[in-house]
Amino acid sequence: APMTPDTDMSKAPSKGRFRAPDHILAIEPYEPGKPMAELEREYGISDAVKLASNENPLGPSPAAVEAIRTSIAGLHRYPDGAAHELSRKLARRHGLAPEQVVVGNGSDEVIGLLAQTLLGPGDEVIIPTPSFLMYEISVRSVGATPVFVPLQELRIDLDQLARQVSERTRLVFLCNPNNPTGTANSVAAVRAFIDQLPERVVVVVDEAYIEFVSDPACFNSLRDGRDKPQLVCLRTFSKVYGLAGLRVGYGVMASELAQLIHRIRPPFNVNSVAQAAAVAALGDEDFLQRSVKLVHEGLVQLTRGLDRLGLRHHPTQTNFFLVDLDRPADEVFEALLRHGVIVRSMLSYGFKRSIRINVGLPEENTRFLEALAAVLT
Ligand code: PMP
Repeated sequence: APMTPDTDMSKAPSKGRFRAPDHILAIEPYEPGKPMAELEREYGISDAVKLASNENPLGPSPAAVEAIRTSIAGLHRYPDGAAHELSRKLARRHGLAPEQVVVGNGSDEVIGLLAQTLLGPGDEVIIPTPSFLMYEISVRSVGATPVFVPLQELRIDLDQLARQVSERTRLVFLCNPNNPTGTANSVAAVRAFIDQLPERVVVVVDEAYIEFVSDPACFNSLRDGRDKPQLVCLRTFSKVYGLAGLRVGYGVMASELAQLIHRIRPPFNVNSVAQAAAVAALGDEDFLQRSVKLVHEGLVQLTRGLDRLGLRHHPTQTNFFLVDLDRPADEVFEALLRHGVIVRSMLSYGFKRSIRINVGLPEENTRFLEALAAVLT
């Protein structure tokens, strides 16, 4: 039958045509860091610097790039749906059974899969706030109820989290170190926290930035939580491994829970190029060490520069940190854009007078410091 105007999908939906349940309407869309190409188009510039999404400024691991080139010849085939080689390599690296590893299209996807697998309407999930915004979105998208616990002086207060546990609590999200504050919880504190929870509560510890941690007391699931079956550890190839654009992350969990997730996981969720790149990046120790060193040196450069400008900034265990501007941050954010420097606005995280910045290359850090000095005078 010919298409009637009514079914023409190219037309913008008229108001009220599509109905979504209230729990979907309650979701604020995630606001990503501004892409460089977009800024360059908008402002007619060509040398933008992006320090907004906690990416690796060195680029992707050269070993991964090589593996990507090779993998292209096989693009007419579906990927290995079980991500066999990657899960085996990860398992060997961390001393796990391959059945404990669930690979996802970014750890974002693993967060979503956990929510879909474990939660439904009426279930409560404890979420520190501000923290990574995908926890709330994933919880709401399945009709479960987020229970927010404000940070105390930028730290996740585990005692306050524990106080929010009810008989409906099914899950707790713990971002360690925390995005966007860079703070971390200790081995002793996280272990004591898990021990006081009812056993049915799953604790998801998101360790997207764990490779940058310098404090040896910081909790590390795969080192300090191996005896806790209710623990799920999330890791990603987007940060220190430099593969954010390919989308690979993974969860480590009890194999019984992994089995449940596989019931709903899309069969080819991680593409073949991403799998090959992640395997190669995992073996590129040299790149890993260079990346961590660059971040630690960049933190020194940036904090010294901010000290010189008299700006307060917060100590961090990650490749990013918050800067207190002591004035409305949105003005500074916009002015920095005009200088071609993209930092992260913290408005959607509830900080009106701070920006978040991640470590870039030394010359990018300098660009940021110079632009900030110009903007603030
Ligand atoms: N968790 C945290 C704390 C993050 O900051 C990010 C990236 N912004 C993610 C998870 C998602 O990472 P991925 O690229 O693996 O989806």
